[in-house]
Amino acid sequence: MSSADNIKVPENILPADGRFGAGPSKVRRDQLEALLADGDTYMGTSHRQSTVKNKVGEVRDGLRQLFSLPDGYEVLLGNGGTTCFWDAATFHLVESQSQHLNFGEFSSKFTTCVTEAPHLNNPQVISAAPGTHPVAVADDSVDLYALTHNETSTGVAMQIVRPAGSTGLVAVDATSAAGGLRVEPSQFDCYYFAPQKSFASDGGLWLALCSPAAIERIESLAASDRWTPAFFDLKIALDNSRQNQTYNTPALATIHLLASQIKWFNDNGGLEFSAGRSDASAATLYSWAESSSYASPFVQNPAERSHVIGTIDFDDSVDAAAVAKILRANGVVDTEPYRKLGRNQLRIAMFPGIDPDDVAALCATIDFIVSALN
Ligand SMILES: *Cc1c(COP(=O)(O)O)cnc(C)c1O
Repeated sequence: MSSADNIKVPENILPADGRFGAGPSKVRRDQLEALLADGDTYMGTSHRQSTVKNKVGEVRDGLRQLFSLPDGYEVLLGNGGTTCFWDAATFHLVESQSQHLNFGEFSSKFTTCVTEAPHLNNPQVISAAPGTHPVAVADDSVDLYALTHNETSTGVAMQIVRPAGSTGLVAVDATSAAGGLRVEPSQFDCYYFAPQKSFASDGGLWLALCSPAAIERIESLAASDRWTPAFFDLKIALDNSRQNQTYNTPALATIHLLASQIKWFNDNGGLEFSAGRSDASAATLYSWAESSSYASPFVQNPAERSHVIGTIDFDDSVDAAAVAKILRANGVVDTEPYRKLGRNQLRIAMFPGIDPDDVAALCATIDFIVSALN
């Protein structure tokens, strides 16, 4: 048995790129080089002038193309990331009562925002144990259904479909899913995300793909007597987005890196290409875990296993935390599980920017480490 500190994984086994974190996630070198190439004319210039506004326009048009948005759908953006968008949604998307599917840390957080909002009724909550997901149930008193495309804390993904017979808006937290999982725009009214996951950019921004019904909801609530802080005002965000601007100063590098990733997806075939890369990585990871003598997929139902975030349980003979530590010492980072889930597992991002060959190399690296430990 070798001491954990001495385990040195040979170069020919290690992944070429060691970043497998759930977010901020791996940024491709091409994105950074594109930013550097524009550095002197783009960075450090006004977000109210055409250089930056055109880049924002590129992001909005690129997302419209990537998701094949129907006429009337609009791309909104603002500062503050998804966590900020949840608060904005309590002001300008939920009219009086929402229904939430809780199946992990992130889906529960939006529920808490709504529950604490004094101007809203208590939400309906449908929960499921971590590792599975619940199903929405149409209800006439619900004006917004809050779904989560990919629960990043557990590695569970759900298909996005409107609850049968529902009339409320369908709002989807797609923070880690967007760009890596397939979705049909007719099934949502608001598909919102942040760029530091499948889009391989940096944090601090939110983006929302909004249907005409969602735009109408924003406009009617903004015209109502509900007091709304300007930072959470989605009508202000809508008006600024239409001008390819944000309400206050955005991080310019974030927008540039995001634009490069969207272009890379679109130039190579769009969502089929980007989701296809995550599919390839997921096929490798889950088949490795299923055939492993010590590892197994945490999510039991193969249809619910996320193709962008894989959670792999280890049996008692292997200490996942020790493996994650040795991986880190060998330059393979951020495979630690979601802290509050508290399982003996690794969590591995398989966003489109992550090379499927590197996921295969990661599996071989884990096997190398486990055999060296035993
Ligand atoms: C990362 C994540 C968030 C939080 O995003 P921030 O931009 O950090 O606010 C919310 N929901 C899901 C599903 C996530 O993966």
